[in-house]
Amino acid sequence: MMKIDLFGKTACVTGAARGIGRDIAMTLSENGAKVIGIDLDKEGLEELKTVTKEETFILDVSDFNAVNGFKDEFLAKYEKCDILVNNAGITRDNLLMRMTENEWDKVLSVNLKSAFNMVSAFSRTLIKQKSGTIVNIASVIGIMGNAGQANYAASKGGLIAFTKSVAKEFASRGVTANAIAPGFIETKMTQALPENVREEYMKFIPLKKFGTPKDVAGIVLFLSSDLAKYVTGQVINCDGGMIM
Ligand code: NAP
Repeated sequence: MMKIDLFGKTACVTGAARGIGRDIAMTLSENGAKVIGIDLDKEGLEELKTVTKEETFILDVSDFNAVNGFKDEFLAKYEKCDILVNNAGITRDNLLMRMTENEWDKVLSVNLKSAFNMVSAFSRTLIKQKSGTIVNIASVIGIMGNAGQANYAASKGGLIAFTKSVAKEFASRGVTANAIAPGFIETKMTQALPENVREEYMKFIPLKKFGTPKDVAGIVLFLSSDLAKYVTGQVINCDGGMIM
C-alpha cells in the first residue's frame, strides 16, 4: 500500500484561518506539504503560521486583481503550486423574494468567482508543470438545492460545473481537478443555525451525526496524494449519507 507523503509539494489553501480550511491546511502540512494559507482573518492566519511554519496571506479571493498580484508574489517565492484548494466560502441566506442583489453578488463572488480567480491565475504554472491537483470545496446544497439558499446553491452548483470543465481542460496536461461536497460540518458557519434547523438536518443524515472539518480534510489529503492520481472531474460527498 502506498504511503501518503506530500514532502516537496507546495499547497495553497484559501479560507485557511478557521473551520474546514484550517484543518485542510494543518492536515496537508502534517503530511509533509509546504502550506500557504490565505484568508481575510489576520489573527487566524497568525495562529495557523505557528503550526505550518510557512507564510500566510491576507487576501480577498473574490478580487481578481488582488489574486493575480498574490500569484506573482507566491511564485516568486515558491516557484510552483502542486495543490490548490479553493475552500473560502460564505453564506448570506434569505428567501428569494427578500434576497438582495448584494446578497446574491457577494455569495457568487466569494464562492464561485474566487475559484475562477485562483485557477486562472495559476493555470499557466500548472500547465507548465504538467502536474498538480485542484480541489474545490462545494456543498451538497449545490447538488440538491435548498430553500433560502438560492445564492449559495447556485454558487456551489456552479463550482461543481466549473470543476468538471477544468478537469476536462487540464487533463491532457497531467493536472486533476475534483470537488468535495460536504453536508453538515460543525464549524462557525453552521454554529449560527438555530437548533430546530440542526434537528431538521439530522433527520436526513443516516450516520446520525454531524461531520467535522477533519472528515473533509481527509478527503483533500487523499485527492492531493498519488493514491488519487487517476481521479479527476469527480464530486466526493462528505455528508454522512445525506444524499446518495
Ligand atoms: P467558515 O468557518 O465560515 O470559514 C470560512 C473562512 O473563509 C473564514 O476564515 C473566512 O474569513 C474566509 N473567507 C471568507 N470570505 C473570504 C474571502 N473573500 N477571501 C478570503 N477568505 C475568505 O466556513 P467553513 O464552514 O469552514 O466552510 C469552508 C467551506 O466549506 C466553504 O466554502 C463552505 O461553503 C463549505 N461548506 C461548509 C459546510 C459546513 O457545514 N460547514 C458544508 C458544505 C460546504 P472571515 O471570517 O474573516 O471572512
